[in-house]
Amino acid sequence: MGQVKGFLKYKRQEVGHRPIEERVHDFAELDLPLTPEQIYQQSARCMDCGIPFCHGTGCPLNNCIPELNELVYKGKWEQACRLLHFTNNFPEITGRVCPAPCEAACTLSINDEPVLIRHIEMQIVERGFEQGWIKPIPALHKTGKRVAVIGSGPAGLAAAQQLARAGHDVVVFEKDERVGGLLRYGIPDFKLEKRIIDRRLEQLKAEGVEFQTGVSVGEDISTRYLQKMFDCVCLAMGAGQPRDLNIPGRGYENILAAMEYLSSQNKSCSGEAIDEYAFVTAKDKVVVVIGGGDTGSDCVGTARRQGAKQIYQLEILPKPPDTRPPDTPWPMWPRVMRTSSSHQEGCERMWSVMTKKFSGVEIRVSRLECCRVEWINQSSRWKTKELAGTDFVLVADLVILALGFEHVVYDGLIKQLGLQLDEQGNVAVNNYQTSEPWVFAAGDTIDGASLVVHAINSGREAAAAINRWLIES
Ligand SMILES: Cc1cc2nc3c(=O)[nH]c(=O)nc-3n(C[C@H](O)[C@H](O)[C@H](O)COP(=O)(O)OP(=O)(O)OC[C@H]3O[C@@H](n4cnc5c(N)ncnc54)[C@H](O)[C@@H]3O)c2cc1C
Ligand code: SF4
Repeated sequence: MGQVKGFLKYKRQEVGHRPIEERVHDFAELDLPLTPEQIYQQSARCMDCGIPFCHGTGCPLNNCIPELNELVYKGKWEQACRLLHFTNNFPEITGRVCPAPCEAACTLSINDEPVLIRHIEMQIVERGFEQGWIKPIPALHKTGKRVAVIGSGPAGLAAAQQLARAGHDVVVFEKDERVGGLLRYGIPDFKLEKRIIDRRLEQLKAEGVEFQTGVSVGEDISTRYLQKMFDCVCLAMGAGQPRDLNIPGRGYENILAAMEYLSSQNKSCSGEAIDEYAFVTAKDKVVVVIGGGDTGSDCVGTARRQGAKQIYQLEILPKPPDTRPPDTPWPMWPRVMRTSSSHQEGCERMWSVMTKKFSGVEIRVSRLECCRVEWINQSSRWKTKELAGTDFVLVADLVILALGFEHVVYDGLIKQLGLQLDEQGNVAVNNYQTSEPWVFAAGDTIDGASLVVHAINSGREAAAAINRWLIES
C-alpha cells in the first residue's frame, strides 16, 4: 500500500507531453516524465484495496503492482526494479507503449481516476538503468541444448532471454536488418525511441543470446537445417499478413499498407539504408488513413511530422461512447472514445464511414468515394448497411490502409513445416507446442495481432514450456 487515504489527498497527475508546436517538427519521444515528488504522490494513491485487480485481471504479466507502488513510495527503488523484472523482461517498453489494462482494472477507477501504474513502471526501470542495477544475468550452468527463435519482436526476445537464462544456447534469426520486430519497424520513434531497444539488447547479448539478422528462415535457411542444428524451435514471427481493402481502384501506387509507410520512416529515423524511391512522404499532401485504431493513429502522427497538409482518419465502426458503457464493466478494458497524442496534433476523425471506391489519374489515387453506414444485428451477426443519400467524396494525395492484420504469413516457413492452424488462422498450439512436437510458437503468431505486453507474456510462457520439454526429452 502507498499512503493511507493517499488517494483522497492526491489527484492523478497525467504524464505531460512536449508542446505540439515543438514535437511535430521531430520524431523524438514526446512524454515528459514526472518529477520524483510527483511520482512519490502518485505511488501514494495506491490503496490497500484487498484484491488487486490491476495485478490479477488487468496486467497480462501479473506485475506485482501494489508491491511496486509501496516500494516506490518508501523510496526502495532498487528493490522495486528487481521485483519488476521478476515478471517483465522489458518494462522500459511496456512502460512507454502499453495501453495499461492494469489502470482500467484499478479499483480506484470504479469511481475515480486510477493509479498512474504505467508511468511508475517506466520510472522504476529508467532509474534502474541510470543506477546500473540492470545487469546481465548469465546462466550458471549450460545445458548443451540448442534453441532457434524465429523472429525478434517482443515475443521472440522474451523467449530468447528466458531460455538463455535457463542455460540453453539460443540463436535468434531475424529477416529484417535489425532486431526488434514491430517495436523497431512499426511503433514510431515518438512513442518508442530505438535506443531503448538497443540498450536492452546489450543485456541479452551479454547473457549469450546470438542474433543473426537479414536471415529469412524458410528462404535463406531450410527447415532441415533447423532440425539438424537445433533441439527445438520457437516461432515468434508475428502476424504480418495485412488486412486489405479489396474495392475498385485498390491498385493505385499511392495506396500503401500501414507497415510499408511506417517502416520506411522508422528506418529513416535510425539512419538505416532505404530505397529513396520506395520512401513515401506525406509532405504537403492530403492524407487519408483508413482504419481508426492505434496503427492508424501512428500513421497520423507520422504524417503530421512529415508535414502533411491535411489528415483524415476514417473508421467504419461507430464513434465509441465517452464513458464506460455497460458491455465493458469494470475491471474490463472499456470500449470508450480515446484520443491519442497524434490525434491532438491535428487530424479530422470520421466514424461510421465506408470507402466504396478509389479513383484517380493514371497510376495515382486522387479521390475516395465514401458513404455513411449503420450497423445492424442480423441473426447475431453485425453487418453494415449503407445510409441512403450520405455519399461523399474525399480528395487525397496519399491513402494509408491501417486495417489490422489477418494472421502470420503462411508462405515460406509455416507452409514448409505444414503446421496446423486454429479457426482464426493462427498457428494452433497446445501449451505453446505446435502440431510438430519440436516446434513451439508464441506472440502474435498464435494470438493474432495483439499487444506488446501479451507478446512478452507469451514469449515467457513459451520459454517455460520449451524448457520443460527439453529437460524431459
Ligand atoms: C504500427 C503498430 C503500432 C503498434 N503499437 C503498439 C503499442 O503502442 N502498444 C502495444 O502494446 N502494441 C502495439 N502494437 C502491437 C505490437 O507491436 C505487437 O503485438 C507485437 O510487436 C507482437 O510481437 P511479436 O514478437 O509476436 O511479433 P513482431 O513484433 O511482429 O515480430 C515478429 C518478427 O518476426 C520476423 N520474422 C517473420 N518471419 C520471419 C522469418 N521467416 N524468418 C526470420 N524472421 C521472421 C519479423 O521480421 C519480425 O521482426 C503495434 C503494432 C503496430 C503494427
Ligand atoms: S505491463 Fe502494461 S498492464 Fe502490466 S503493469 Fe505495465 S502498463 Fe500495466
